[in-house]
Amino acid sequence: MVSFESTEIAFRVKSDRDLNKAYWLFRVISRPAIVKIGGSLARFALKIHFPINWIVKPTIYNHFCGGETIGECLPTVQKLSKFNVKSILDYSVEGKEDPVEIQAALDETLRTIDNAAKQSSIPFTVFKPTAFAVSKVLEKKSEGKSLTPEENQEYEKFINRVDTHCKKAFELNVPIMVDAEHFCVQECIDQVVMEMMEKYNRKKAIVYNTYQMYRHDRMDVFRRDLDTARKKDFYLGIKFVRGAYMEKERERAAKLGYPSPIQPDKESTDRAYDGALKYAVENIDRVSIFNGTHNEKSSLLLSQLMEEHGIRKDDFRCYFSQLYGMSDHISFNLANEGYNVAKYLPYGPVRSVLPYLIRRTEENTSIAGQTGREMRLITMERKRRKSQKSI
Ligand SMILES: Cc1cc2nc3c(=O)[nH]c(=O)nc-3n(C[C@H](O)[C@H](O)[C@H](O)COP(=O)(O)OP(=O)(O)OC[C@H]3O[C@@H](n4cnc5c(N)ncnc54)[C@H](O)[C@@H]3O)c2cc1C
Repeated sequence: MVSFESTEIAFRVKSDRDLNKAYWLFRVISRPAIVKIGGSLARFALKIHFPINWIVKPTIYNHFCGGETIGECLPTVQKLSKFNVKSILDYSVEGKEDPVEIQAALDETLRTIDNAAKQSSIPFTVFKPTAFAVSKVLEKKSEGKSLTPEENQEYEKFINRVDTHCKKAFELNVPIMVDAEHFCVQECIDQVVMEMMEKYNRKKAIVYNTYQMYRHDRMDVFRRDLDTARKKDFYLGIKFVRGAYMEKERERAAKLGYPSPIQPDKESTDRAYDGALKYAVENIDRVSIFNGTHNEKSSLLLSQLMEEHGIRKDDFRCYFSQLYGMSDHISFNLANEGYNVAKYLPYGPVRSVLPYLIRRTEENTSIAGQTGREMRLITMERKRRKSQKSI
């Protein structure tokens, strides 16, 4: 059975200096008051165009991101790949609505597909669907409201953009994942991605959709989609995550007076997540699994299920993934045992990536035990290295 205990393996990619920097970073972001003030200051600085690169880039940005461009990420990709940990370049520019910015996101994502096709250490590409469209249109479509002719045109453009990317990924044989975002836009994204799977997943999963298992309807959706895939004879690619927008979803549902789409508690989300993994492995003939989690139990569970079902550790249908800068003990220990592991490696201009970074720090503060766990492991490794040197 795989173990996540070895800090020597977990941090083998980090020099002593890197480790010390990570230690101080997690010390700072473990304090909710600092994160709250820092987040507000960062948002304000963005608004008034105050220069912040000098403080953000050498600290939090370098810990959680690969660089500002694909080229800047490549040394990190190579460093990780020495330890059998692969990378997924994630252009993390969010919430752009302007046509020029949307076009820039489209062009950049196409470049990531070209780049991945040339590198075995980059096994997937990814995009955020809201980067390809005006969110309001996706929202109206998801709510079943009728669109104006201009909005309809926008929606058609969105479908064409997604298709262009999936087609290119198919032609270059690079699997492509579609991130999941807010509940209010997800319905129409799911429909479009299912159409793409039907079109491009005839021989294997090239297009992957994301199921957020904190939504109480996802297990039923999974069963329904699998049924469709079997009937129409295509493969399902699924990235499983718990879901990143819980508080906002609950607030929105309460404000607008509809039932919350989120599970009632953490235990229900955990049960649904692990249940979905089990169901996916039982249907591995049709489903390719991307296990996007920092949860040790869910990572262990997939490895156990694979063993029970006689699935090889390096079977292309099962991937484990964590975000760059987090949970290296899971990534590096799994990779060391021969499992497929790929880190999400966010990149992009510092200012554009800032909302992602603020979310990471807030998540590390709010998710029970996450920062504590990172701190405990880094401290253990610092001690281990010190005692090694004194021998
Ligand atoms: C590789 C990768 C890709 C990702 N891609 C996406 C994506 O496309 N879309 C997206 O939304 N997120 C994405 N995430 C983030 C993910 O959804 C989670 O927010 C994050 O990973 C924390 O969940 P966990 O399984 O790692 O850990 P855990 O710490 O075990 O779980 C924390 C999660 O449990 C859920 N939870 C916590 N408390 C409660 C509660 N009271 N009631 C109900 N549920 C609760 C929440 O989803 C919370 O984020 C991604 C994460 C990874 C590692």
